[in-house]
Amino acid sequence: MGKKEENTAFICAVCHRSVLPFKHGTYRNHCPFCLTSVHLDVLPGDRKSTCKGIMKPIGVKNHSKKGWQIVHQCLKCRMEKVNVVGIDDDWSKIIELCHSLQT
Ligand SMILES: [Zn+2]
Ligand SMILES: [Zn+2]
Repeated sequence: MGKKEENTAFICAVCHRSVLPFKHGTYRNHCPFCLTSVHLDVLPGDRKSTCKGIMKPIGVKNHSKKGWQIVHQCLKCRMEKVNVVGIDDDWSKIIELCHSLQT
């Protein structure tokens, strides 16, 4: 699959918890605890971006086919990216994000 070497544990840049990779090959692109991502990819999984900015969750979407998605925006270059919610993401954080959008 070519993604194996990218699928390693990392320390979240924001909450500093260690984030373990998924066991089933899908690579993780955001922290399940605080939902923050880092701008590493140009295309999903390629790790080719030179930005490395912190990507803050700014919104939540419900995609009819892909399910729940988190909208991330890079604090450095302002790029927005949509990421599918991970199975062990903190739902209370996602719900908090939903509420913060409605106010
Ligand atoms: Zn985190
Ligand atoms: Zn960026």
